[in-house]
Amino acid sequence: MQITEIYKSLQGESTYSGLPCVFVRLTGCNLRCSWCDSEFSFYGGRKMTLEEVLSEVARLSPAGGLVEITGGEPMLQEREVIPLMEQLLDADYQVLLETSGERPLARVPKQVVKIVDVKCPHSGEANTFALENLDALRPHDELKFVLTDRADYEFARDFVLNHELAERVHAILFSPAFEKDASGARDTSHCLLDPQELAQWILADNIPARLSLQIHKLIWDPAAKGV
Ligand code: SF4
Repeated sequence: MQITEIYKSLQGESTYSGLPCVFVRLTGCNLRCSWCDSEFSFYGGRKMTLEEVLSEVARLSPAGGLVEITGGEPMLQEREVIPLMEQLLDADYQVLLETSGERPLARVPKQVVKIVDVKCPHSGEANTFALENLDALRPHDELKFVLTDRADYEFARDFVLNHELAERVHAILFSPAFEKDASGARDTSHCLLDPQELAQWILADNIPARLSLQIHKLIWDPAAKGV
């Protein structure tokens, strides 16, 4: 499979946030979200066999633990990434899959925790979420909405309520988008939507969503890669 990078850091944006995690970032994406912070994964990378990926994960985390499969869009390499997830599970890793929600997810092994985006209008990729993926969700999965403004928030709020998402998944994440080329200050000044404003909207509407900040952008330099 085509791999951009494999590295160990802290998980940064889900209910697993803050835990040590090995990231396997696959190359390539078919979407172009306006605020994407992973454009470096669109092209390039290197071809690695399943065995080479497993061995690198084991070198970074020999005692098991958390592994996140991310991208790019990992499900574009479904034929190789599903066996990878199966083998990681067999080796007693807990596996997270970060995905755009555009690719079919029905074949993802059921023990994998899916963290699935629903793209909002100002991502530039609205209406790419495959609605049939709602049926592939399991109670341990998480849905993420990256928000830039009030219109994105209202889209996310209505989607959550109309599809009764709180009944389907473990967590609904509302995450302010981050400036693409941010660097320097490790604070929320780079958020495209003020987290305080978002918190007030969530409270006012009583939405069962979790305000989620990308903690890796607050711990490390926001421009740093491989963290
Ligand atoms: S789906 Fe993810 S990797 Fe692809 S463009 Fe959007 S944010 Fe970037």
